[in-house]
Amino acid sequence: MTKRILTGDRPTGPLHLGHYVGSLRNRVRLQEEYDTHILIADLQALTDNFEHPEKLSHNVHEVALDYLAVGLSPERVKIVVQSMVPELAELTVYFMNLVTVATLERNPTVKEEIKQRHFGKRVPVGFWAYPISQAADIAIFKAHLVPVGEDQLPMIEQTREIVRRFNTLYGEVLVEPEALIGEVARLPGTDGSLKMSKSLGNCIYLGDPPEVLRKRVMSMFTDPTRIHATDPGHVEGNPVFTYHDAFNPDTAEVDELKQRYREGRVGDVEVKQRLYEALERFLAPIRETRAAYAAKPEQVREIIMEGTRRGRETAQATMKEVRAAMKLDYLRA
Ligand code: ATP
Ligand code: MG
Repeated sequence: MTKRILTGDRPTGPLHLGHYVGSLRNRVRLQEEYDTHILIADLQALTDNFEHPEKLSHNVHEVALDYLAVGLSPERVKIVVQSMVPELAELTVYFMNLVTVATLERNPTVKEEIKQRHFGKRVPVGFWAYPISQAADIAIFKAHLVPVGEDQLPMIEQTREIVRRFNTLYGEVLVEPEALIGEVARLPGTDGSLKMSKSLGNCIYLGDPPEVLRKRVMSMFTDPTRIHATDPGHVEGNPVFTYHDAFNPDTAEVDELKQRYREGRVGDVEVKQRLYEALERFLAPIRETRAAYAAKPEQVREIIMEGTRRGRETAQATMKEVRAAMKLDYLRA
């Protein structure tokens, strides 16, 4: 059997550079080797956007455009819309019995996200428990590998625990998945914060036009301790250099800039200008493919519908086995 990949994104906005280095690049690299399902996780996105569901429908299309733009092949990869696979909700309910409240409360990523969203004591149960539904997403496709950014490690660990518990209780039906972290585990935001994130407004989007890209790069956070271009600067932990390392293939140029920066022989403007140029070289072909698909919304819709149809078949097959293993198929044919 060909091994499977399952991963996904929340349709809370178009995809950004963090998605690329954290997960998309691995998906593209492995799409020939693995049977790949990619979930547009609109139900998960709803858990902190339920007051504005209209935000999601638009972004489902945007996220699909980003997938196609970076080179995910619609022939190879199934793009699946989460809300159109009701079997996921069913498996989530079964999984809820296999997780304790204490475990959910320990999840460091969810804790951090709760803080960022200023939920205080009013955390929606759906949000707090989304690692369970994410475990169902991964398990229903029997994924072996989950290409994700570092923030998702607790979710994969939670999934592994649930799968082990399920298999011990009911029999070996589900597959214990492994995480595959991208070459940049967590890309910082343009504001220097720990993670570029759609919800934090510190992103460079894959579809940003050149003038927007330039503006975002030029206003990036650098070394706060450096006041004049002649002051020796810090390269480590400086997001401009983190981006150079991730997106500028001209390592000689990057090394030279780093050295001059450390010695106080180059200004922020030049370092950013070179970063802009490198990012423009990287993003131009992605932007072009994106525009070509954006001009054919019907075709994109077809790709999503077909991926979802095929993905749902897989989910239905797993659920038959799950119900049988749990002895819940008494009245079914
Ligand atoms: P939101 O703010 O709505 O949660 P997000 O920007 O965090 O959006 P997600 O859809 O939650 O994006 O994440 C999708 C995938 O991209 C996950 O595997 C996540 O780990 C990865 N990812 C997101 N941001 C980054 C980043 N800055 N660096 C590396 N990987 C990232
Ligand atoms: Mg996120």
